[in-house]
Parts: sequence; structure tokens; C-alpha cells
Amino acid sequence: MYRKVDTNLNFVDREKEVEKFWKDNKIFEKSMDSRKEGETYTFYDGPPTANGKPHIGHVLTRVIKDMIPRYRTMKGYMVPRKAGWDTHGLPVELEVEKKLGLDGKEQIEEYGMEPFIQQCKESVWKYKGMWEDFSSTVGFWADMEHPYVTYDNNFIESEWWALKEIWEKGLLYKGFKIVPYCPRCGTPLSAQEVSQGYKTVKERSAIVRFKVVGEDAYFLAWTTTPWTLPSNVALCVNPDEIYCKVKAADGYTYYMAEALLDKVLGKLAKDDEPAYEILEKYKGTDLERKEYEPLFACTGEAAAKQRKKAHFVTCDNYVTMSDGTGIVHIAPAFGEDDSRVGREYDLPFVQFVDGQGNMTKETPYAGVFVKKADPMVLTDLDKEGKLFDAPKFEHDYPHCWRCDTPLIYYARESWFIKMTAVKDDLIRNNNTINWIPESIGKGRFGDWLENVRTGVFPETVTGEHH
Ligand SMILES: [Zn+2]
Repeated sequence: MYRKVDTNLNFVDREKEVEKFWKDNKIFEKSMDSRKEGETYTFYDGPPTANGKPHIGHVLTRVIKDMIPRYRTMKGYMVPRKAGWDTHGLPVELEVEKKLGLDGKEQIEEYGMEPFIQQCKESVWKYKGMWEDFSSTVGFWADMEHPYVTYDNNFIESEWWALKEIWEKGLLYKGFKIVPYCPRCGTPLSAQEVSQGYKTVKERSAIVRFKVVGEDAYFLAWTTTPWTLPSNVALCVNPDEIYCKVKAADGYTYYMAEALLDKVLGKLAKDDEPAYEILEKYKGTDLERKEYEPLFACTGEAAAKQRKKAHFVTCDNYVTMSDGTGIVHIAPAFGEDDSRVGREYDLPFVQFVDGQGNMTKETPYAGVFVKKADPMVLTDLDKEGKLFDAPKFEHDYPHCWRCDTPLIYYARESWFIKMTAVKDDLIRNNNTINWIPESIGKGRFGDWLENVRTGVFPETVTGEHH
């Protein structure tokens, strides 16, 4: 049967009429009351944040999240739909900081944690009314009068309960993760924050001589962060590139990448004397495990204390031939690649920089800020004949968007859940889910599960329990 639609029909008015009819007659409530005997189909709304306005993208998610419960209701299920509100997170805190004219952790503590939290709790409801109107307008049914709220204690306690279960299964452990870190603010920055603060700076880099054990020869390695050298525990070469042992015009014998010989040693050439003479050629892998003497005594001591082997050549594909000498210095506490190489070769973990970005007492530069330590390190290495060159180097370096301090890549102690231990279960479970569209669950999410790995150093379970 067809019904002719009036060409002047006002859809908005008609929607309002239906909306009012639903409200006046408590249709949502009735949809549950009339199915009390039916099987329950549970729906918890993935909670939106009410301190931001709803936008057009939310229409799509609200409609989809209404469709499934509505279909189940029509099939005779009892479907209570629990609305929820997401109330935690940095965006809330930053907005309140702005409102109160505060800047950073210390000022918040001065203002007082409790009143600050209270302000946050008020701020998160800023657009609640708008969200409710919007949800109702798009015909989204949910129990908005009894929502779950992520800052309610019973919700927080359920998180603690889950964490305790994980702890009791021995899956919670402490490790280190390399993060971009502002030593002045004392906080790591998100990738988005880091991208806001790049500046072009000219700094001195260092090409350093690392003495090969048992040979009158040196590895030449390049770094843009001389302050990380006192924490050096290894060198790294590209396994597939060609490396040379050369007799250079400065009288030294060096190991470095063939591709960069002229760039690095070229300037040693004199009128009729070549800059270097190649003695032997190797593949990167031939140099693996070759040992050298620690650059700083403090690192040798730290390695011995940890009973770990250090100060040898490692291999990894991340080493490129675009800059430097083709040999990279490794300090696992101060770089993601370094950290990964450190895990693979079971290197000691040496972090001679404290949370304020100052060199620690183990080094000859106790209490000196890392960037200020750079020239001191260069001077000392030069005095000991370990500095080949200190070329000026121009690069884009991230600075803190709040306070302009240069960021450092820094290993921070954090708690982690040992996901690798439950990976097989996760994949098995994911395969039982009816994903629509399939590409999301099998593709994007499935790929992510396949790649579950630990990104931390070292993977050891700590604590009494286990
Ligand atoms: Zn800062």
C-alpha cells in the first residue's frame, strides 16, 4: 500500500512531532517494559566527552549505535541501553588550566589538587545539555537519566579491580619506555605536542674515536647529542653495508663505512698525499661483536655492576649512509632505536641523566644540564685524543611548546601489561567476533593484534608477587 507524500512536507516539524510523541508516551521505557520476559541484550554506550560540542561525525556513530539495539528490540529482546560519559583526560585539565590562568604541574599543586579536581568535574559537563538535545534529535535512544560516568568511584574501582586481576596473573610489570620529555616541566609530551615545537638549531656534533680492543685502530662514530656519550654501551653498523679499515693521513687507523670515507676523511688530504689508504673491506656483519674500550670509565663500571656485556659492535638496519660515519653510537636510555638494539643484544641499561635533565654524579658532569654538558664533553674528549672532529650541524629539533626548553628523548619508568603473554588468546577471541565490515576486525584490528609486542626495556616482571 502506498501513501502519497505531501510535496510541502516539513521534515523537521515531523521529526519534532515524532520526538515529542516518543517522549510524552515514554516509548523507550515501554520498549523495555513490554519485553521484561525477553532475553536481555546488553548495550553500553561508548562514552562521548561532554566538554566538547557534538559534531556531524557523531551523527553517524549515534545512528549506528542506535540501529543495533533497535533491531534487537524488534526481535523481542529486552535491551536496556546505558548511556555513558567520558570525563577523564588531559584535554579537560588543559581547559581548566586555561580558565584558571595556571601553567603546569607546580602551579596546579599550588592552587590545590582538590579544588582543581572539582573544577575539572564541573568543566566536563559544559555541553551535556547540547549532547542530550542532539542525541534526542537524531532519534538515539539511551538511558540518559542513569548514565555511567568515568569519574564515579564505582567506575574507577572497577578499573582498579581489573588491574589487580592482571597483577595477580603476573602480567603487570615495570619497565622503561623512551618518551619525548621536557626536563623543565618534568613531563613527557604527546606526538602532537612535539610536532608543535620544532625549531632549526645549529649545534656541535661529535665524530668520536672508539679504541678497538687488541688493535691499534679506532671505530669512528658520529653523534648529534654528545651528552649521551657518557651513557654509551655499544656501537651499531648496518649489516649489509660495506665497511673499511683505512690508514688515514692523520696517522690513525679507522673503521668506518666505505660510502662516507671521502665525506669524513677527505679533508685530511694534503698536496700529494691522499686522505686515506684502504687496508681491508668488510660487510657490516663481519664487524658484529667486535669489542672496543669504554669511552667513559663510568659506563664500564655500570656494565660490570649489571653483569652485562657491553662495548661491542651491534648490527641493525636503521643505520643509514646519509650522515655521519655509518657507525652509530648506542645509548639505550635515550632513543627508541637504541632501546630496541639494547633489548636485542641484552645490553646494560645506563641512564646518567636525572629527571630534571641534569647529568648524574656517576659522570664527570654532575648537576650540569645536558645541553650545557655538550661542550664540556667535547673538550674532555679532545683532551684525551678521542675527538676526531666536532662539525657544526644544523637540524630541526623539538622544543617544549609550553616553556621552550629543548626536549630530550628519555627512558621513563612506567607500568606495563605483558600483552605478548595473552596475544594468542586475543587473536583467538577476535576471530569469534562478527565484525562489520569485516575489514575492520580482520584487517586493521587484526593486524594490530598480530603486531602486539613489548616496546619497553627491559621486559622483566618486578615486585614481590610472581
Ligand atoms: Zn616544558
